Amino acid sequence: MIRVAINGYGTIGKRVADAVAAQPDMKVVGVSKTRPSHEAYVAKQRGYPLYIADLAKKGDFERAGIPVAGDVEDMLKAADIVVDATPGGVGKKNRALYEKHGVKAIWQGGEDHEVAGFSFNSDCNFPDAVNRSFTRVVSCNTTGLCRIIKAMDREFGVKNVRAVMVRRGGDPGDIKRGPIDAVVLNPVTIPSHHGPDVQTVLPHVNIVTLAMIVPVTMMHMHVVQMDLEKTPTREQVIQIIERHPRMGLVRKSTGITSTAELKEYAMDLGRARSDLWENGIFEESVSVIGNELYLFQAIHQEADVVVENIDAIRAMTGTVTDAAKSIEMTNKALGFTPI
Ligand code: NAD
Repeated sequence: MIRVAINGYGTIGKRVADAVAAQPDMKVVGVSKTRPSHEAYVAKQRGYPLYIADLAKKGDFERAGIPVAGDVEDMLKAADIVVDATPGGVGKKNRALYEKHGVKAIWQGGEDHEVAGFSFNSDCNFPDAVNRSFTRVVSCNTTGLCRIIKAMDREFGVKNVRAVMVRRGGDPGDIKRGPIDAVVLNPVTIPSHHGPDVQTVLPHVNIVTLAMIVPVTMMHMHVVQMDLEKTPTREQVIQIIERHPRMGLVRKSTGITSTAELKEYAMDLGRARSDLWENGIFEESVSVIGNELYLFQAIHQEADVVVENIDAIRAMTGTVTDAAKSIEMTNKALGFTPI
């Protein structure tokens, strides 16, 4: 069993913990929090040993009825690998701690590429992660872009990509974020950081991205256009999406034309937390004009990177060296059903 610690038990960390617990080859040895919260109660209920960043706060947890197993260093001593899911920018400060304890580490997309010197996506560069000590799983938007770009590049060759990201303003439970009533250009300059981020994983891809934030919480929506080397048929593109383990076709027959309905669909399918781990690609939007491909894809920001973290754990511990095998194991353990 691979012993996994999760440092930072928030939106991403709590999902990674449950995904690890669902795998046959992994075990959660601990999760960490900075202060008592509803998530700490859930960790207790799930039976995950709870560690805290600052032992001076131990009394606050104990008064709230939440037992503390120790501090983050104690947690690292029990682990083969740590998934750092602390807020963006905090994770890099933890690197020295991980090095001190000789524990492998995975960071999230809120950190810069340099925190690990290697950025990961299961479809694109799994073999390069095998036996690595440090890896960064790219952000939710970059993950969604990498999946579709890699799949099309493999079959048809991608000449260039132009993509517009309509980004959610905050996660559903994130009451501190805005905007309340605005479309915020994020950034106003072009390109956004997403294109260069895709190039940390797919360096040869010519990509320009633009992004804006809108006052919604459920998902991001991408408008993707690609110029391909070979001209595909629309049916070929749809077949690739249907067969892909991390892309789902939002069929015309479902009548779904929005993120809200797609999230409701995931909930009705019985997905844990109504999570959509795969890109939700709208069938009716898939259009081929000459050698240009157009489509809309919905990205559930809280979920798509979770499965990537699980594959990164297998690659880095060298326990599975084949991407397809790990992806299949991860999906099966989580109960992926086609959308
Ligand atoms: P979050 O704020 O929901 O959770 C972070 C957790 O870390 C909180 O529980 C907090 O208490 C804890 N924490 C803070 N400082 C800590 C410390 N020093 N030691 C231990 N724990 C600490 O954040 P999140 O949204 O889960 O984001 C985590 C990372 O994942 C970021 O890099 C973010 O950019 C990335 N990410 C987030 C999303 C998303 O949609 N939320 C999507 C993809 C990637």
